[in-house]
Amino acid sequence: MDKIELKALGKINLGLDVLGKRPNGYHDVRMVMQTIYLYDQIIMEKKKEPGIEISTNLFYLPVNENNLAYRAARLLMDEFDIQTGVKISLTKHIPVAAGMAGGSSNAAAVLYGMNRMYGLGLSMEELMERGVTLGADVPYCIMRGTVLAEGIGEILTPLPAMPKCQIVVAKPPVSVSTKMVYEKLDSHQIEEHPDIDGIIGGLESEDLKKVADCMGNVLEKVTVEAYPVIEKIKQCMKEGGALNAMMSGSGPTVFGIFEDRKQAKKAAARIKEAGLAKQVYVTNVHNARRK
Ligand code: ATP
Repeated sequence: MDKIELKALGKINLGLDVLGKRPNGYHDVRMVMQTIYLYDQIIMEKKKEPGIEISTNLFYLPVNENNLAYRAARLLMDEFDIQTGVKISLTKHIPVAAGMAGGSSNAAAVLYGMNRMYGLGLSMEELMERGVTLGADVPYCIMRGTVLAEGIGEILTPLPAMPKCQIVVAKPPVSVSTKMVYEKLDSHQIEEHPDIDGIIGGLESEDLKKVADCMGNVLEKVTVEAYPVIEKIKQCMKEGGALNAMMSGSGPTVFGIFEDRKQAKKAAARIKEAGLAKQVYVTNVHNARRK
């Protein structure tokens, strides 16, 4: 196989709790992750000349070893002594630095693509073991679907699939540093922990309303303090009929859960019209796991 086209899907967090901090600075988390059908298009192609060549539609993204897609390709090329080169084209749609694991999902797709294209014979578990060296969310992005992520995010337990629903994603025009959010969290006392077990219970009983009611993100307060627009978008989604709305990851992206597609589209249009966000999408959850 000389060429492979892949979709690198983004994620939202239905729940995000922080349990503590390790001496090395990493945080112990308990998160319910959900893949959504908002994706970056990735085309990988072998080339005769050695080296990794990255191209992307976003001028501000690095195309060297600072790009996670580059690092993913490098990792397997070094381990398997691959002498030919690879061209990787990234067409980005997942908002960048937004709490949707865009970089991690690109890395996951490239690991998957290298394994297929070069016939390396690695199992999904073996790809995940390599992925975690690139980032805590990479193993999840390899697995996909509805998953409980613990440890630093790498200990994964598959959960029952999220019931069918519409997801509105809105990224306000501010950039959030994940590092900054966690540092601020450390200086706060966590007053309220989200009901992660409630979310899991809702998934087990296929009860979308219960999942939505139990949603919570311990990082939200910290990011909202810096960017009140996040709260405004949440309100707009709820007024527009969302069962609930919340910030994903360390933000600033907000997502809303809707039962009805028409309502979801209307809410998305209202957020744009109000000038709260330009990057607004209506999409679905994606429950299939990668095999
Ligand atoms: P997370 O949800 O894991 O916190 P994120 O959405 O906050 O991820 P990313 O979109 O992955 O963050 O990007 C964070 C930083 O990583 C960006 O500032 C960007 O420069 C860098 N980066 C490196 N490679 C990529 C890539 N392939 N796609 C997007 N960003 C990348």
